This record gives sequence, C-alpha cells and structure tokens, in this order.
Amino acid sequence: MKVLLVEPNYKNKYPPIGLMKISTYHKMLGDEVHFVKGTSKDIDSQVWDRIYITTLFTFYFDITIKTINHYLKIANDIRSLYVGGIMASLMPERIIDATGMDMEHILVGLFTDTSKVGDNNSVNIDQLPLDYDILDEITYKYPAGDNYFSHTSRGCPNHCPFCAIPILEPHFYVTNNIKKQIETINNKYGPKQNLLLLDNNVLNTPNLKELVDDLCSLGFERGAKFVDPGTYNIIMSRYHKGDRSPLLDNKLNTYLDSFKARIKSSEMLEKFIKVLIKGETISDFATYMLDQEHVISPIIEKYRNKNPKARYLDFNQGVDARKINDENMFQLSRLSIRPLRIAFDSINLSKQYINAVKIAHKYGIREISNYILFNYNDTPASLYERLLINIELNKELGIQIFSFPMKYSPINRIDRNYIGKFWTRKALSAISAILQVSNGVVAAGSNFFLKAFGNTLSEYFEILAMPRSLIMFRQYFEENGTTNSWREEYNRLDNVQRNRLMHFVSKPVSELKKMKYPKEFESIIPYYLISYNGNRA
Ligand code: SF4
Repeated sequence: MKVLLVEPNYKNKYPPIGLMKISTYHKMLGDEVHFVKGTSKDIDSQVWDRIYITTLFTFYFDITIKTINHYLKIANDIRSLYVGGIMASLMPERIIDATGMDMEHILVGLFTDTSKVGDNNSVNIDQLPLDYDILDEITYKYPAGDNYFSHTSRGCPNHCPFCAIPILEPHFYVTNNIKKQIETINNKYGPKQNLLLLDNNVLNTPNLKELVDDLCSLGFERGAKFVDPGTYNIIMSRYHKGDRSPLLDNKLNTYLDSFKARIKSSEMLEKFIKVLIKGETISDFATYMLDQEHVISPIIEKYRNKNPKARYLDFNQGVDARKINDENMFQLSRLSIRPLRIAFDSINLSKQYINAVKIAHKYGIREISNYILFNYNDTPASLYERLLINIELNKELGIQIFSFPMKYSPINRIDRNYIGKFWTRKALSAISAILQVSNGVVAAGSNFFLKAFGNTLSEYFEILAMPRSLIMFRQYFEENGTTNSWREEYNRLDNVQRNRLMHFVSKPVSELKKMKYPKEFESIIPYYLISYNGNRA
C-alpha cells in the first residue's frame, strides 16, 4: 500500500508526532510511506492508497481546510483520506461543512483503534514509537529539533474550562513504559540529546519516583551530559542492522560531504575524498560504505565533535503549581530539568505559585519558566502583577524565571481575534507589540521588564494606551519627542476618558482614518495613525 502523510504548511514547533506514529504503523505492515508538508506537484502526480492529514490549532483553520480540499481533489478514492489531530478533534463538524467529508473519515481523539481506518488488527497506534525518518523527507526544520518527544501519561484530571485537553484526552492514564519508548528509539535511530515530555500534568502520575528512576537510568539525571555519536555512526549502525533506504544514503552523503572541511590531515583528506568520489557511481551505497568502513571510521573518529553537551529534560506542558510539594520537587530535582515550567494562569493562584517556585529553588532548580494565561477572565492589571511577581522572585531568590504570556483564545475559534471581557483590542495589541520586540518572552531581568511594561501599574496602563508604533520603536519616538507630545495629550485626559480612548482606538487604523473623532480625542488620535517600519528616512 502507498501511504501519504500530510501536514499543512503552517509554522509549528514540534514535528507531527501523530503522523510519525502512523508512519511506524504502516512501515510495520510493509507499506510504502511518504511525508509532505503542504502540497507538492511530485506528490500530486502519484497514486495514493491512503492519505492521512494531520491538523493542529484551530486558528490554522483556513490553511488546513485548503490543504484537505487539495488532497480530496487528488485522492485516488476520497474514502481513503483521513483527517485527524487537534483541530479535527475539536471541530469535526466545521471540517465536514468546509470539505464535504463525512464523520467516519475524521479521526477524533487519540488514534488507538485501527478499525477506524478499516484495518483489522489490534495495534494501538498512539503507543507506537515515532518514525524520525519521515522528517528527512521535507526541508522544514522544526524549532523543537531532533529530540525525543514522548508522553508518559495522557489526559489531565483538572478539566480547566479554558483548556482543550479535557476534550482531546478526557481520561487520565499512564501510557507505555518510558524506558521501552526511549530504548526503541535508541535502537532504531540512535540516541537524541534532549527529552521533551509532553504530559499534560505529570505530577498526577501515580508513582513519580519510579518515573524519575526510569528517566535517570535513561541518562537524564541532574547534570547529565550527552556526547553525540554523530550522523555517520548512527547510519552505519543502521546499515549493519540491514536498514536500507535512499533517504539514509542521501543523509550520509550530505554529512560526509560537509565533514570534509573538518579534516586537517591532507593524507586523510585524500583517502576520504577518494572513497566519496567512488561512492558517487555505486548503486548499493550502503554495502559500499560498509566495505569502506575501515578507511572512513578512523577519520570520522579523529575529527568528529566528541565534546559532552548538557542534556536536558523538559516537561513541556508545565507542571501544576497547586500540586508541587517537597516530596515531588525532590524527585523532579533529581532530573536534568531545564527549564522547570510552572503554569501561573490566574492571580488567584499567586500564593500557590510563589510557594511552588520557592520549593523548586530549595531543591536547587534555578531555571524556571512559566506560562501566564491572559485575556481570559483576568484583567490587564493581573497580567502585570503576575509578571512583577516573577521579577521580584528573581531578585529575592537569585534565579531566572522567564515568563511566556499566552493569549487565551476559545478552543472553538478559528481566528485569534477573541477579546476577553476585561480586555480591549488596543490593550491586546499593545501586549503583542511589547512581546514582538522580545520574541514572546519576558526575560528574567528587571531592567527589561520595567522598561517594557512600566515601573508602576499607572505607567503600564500608559504603555497599553500608547500608539503601537510608539511601543514598537520606543527609542526612536522617545528621541524625536513624539512620545512626549503624545504623553502630554494623554495626561490631559481623566480616567474615564482614558477608558473611552482605549475602546475608541481599538478600531482598526483604516477605520479610524475615515472617522470623525470626538472632540475630546481630536488632538490625540493622529498619534495612532503614525505608521513607521523602523527604517529611518
Ligand atoms: S491543568 Fe493544564 S492540562 Fe490540565 S486541564 Fe488545566 S490547563 Fe489543561
């Protein structure tokens, strides 16, 4: 069977874990599997027996639907096309409306039962190892890199109303053994440097000590180091096991070609190049390389990078501050966690959050990052207060907490335009302008924070009200006096007027330009029409 795996061409951090498992499944069955990101003419011209399309965030709705409709047109038989993943699980009806597919071909939730795609076996695809080879078929590089990605549990018992997990994974359970998962990857693809555990709520694991013991035995104990065996050794080991594929050959070829630059001995370089040149004409490259191993291996071994690198483990979804205590933090501190992510979703959780950070600090964890949900039921002031708590904790404990403000968007929205009940479009746009300058992160130092968000709550509100260009290009407009002139206008307004202004300037600039302004805002509105792209004239 010829199987095509498709990921729409959106930007995403993690590789498509579901498709990587489906690939393992079909390769186990002896099928031919290909992976594509978006569309490609070469793919369109082939006949596919089955197509799987993954989906991600609901705000990627348009690009995802376009991709599904494209493949529905080229599919040999539309009954062999399946759509799964996060968006498909959250809004199958909308996909049906937009594509004409039927419910039977939308894979909702985890892919644990292959009878959904008409197969007759008892394989639980969700528990299969990832096929990393498919990532070599595309040019897109996932920012999360070539690491281990895994779950030790699914679901979360908390059922927070803003979260998609209760729908995607309604029940909490422990998945297959992490040791087996990692060892399977090691045997097939060679070891990876870092481990990203994607559990939703790892502190709910019934036996955390056992999990930590396993992770330590896998090489993720505190202070762990990693020496990369390198592409050559990994591929040669696969050749030795009988693994053959043009993708492996290409990868090795590219690696050896770039390795030449490291060889300092002219004699060795000559030998190395000779082998490579001959290899270009050989049809069975793998067997040829095995024959030449005695020549190439000593050269690779002499010049490859053998420096140990720090190895880290990242509980990527964040740990639950409410559940952190001495016992579980002692366990987590045995690991090479970097960073420890702690969610800080509401100002009402300040006490638990501060306590959690202090416990983490007590057990020697210095790098902490946290997700700060905003635009939900919170106020703009509460975002500032939570960020400030981190700055104060950094100062008090001598640690580094990096904050990642995460804008809430309801899980049934297909755009990112939702405005929380205490927020305005203008305030959200100001936060996004501040974060754009810092790539979404609020760094640990107080200098950046106080400059970006203001020294006091009233300075923060002033920044929220500031025209977007003046926020984005703060220095330029401060130096040329524009910010001060705007501030003089702003200071003339009382609090009620400022509140009205926030709503008024929440309108798109194109609309503002055409409007007649209320008298009270006549002199301040022109500042909101300044457009500047950072290039000085
Ligand atoms: S604790 Fe986290 S994963 Fe669990 S439901 Fe709440 S937000 Fe979702």
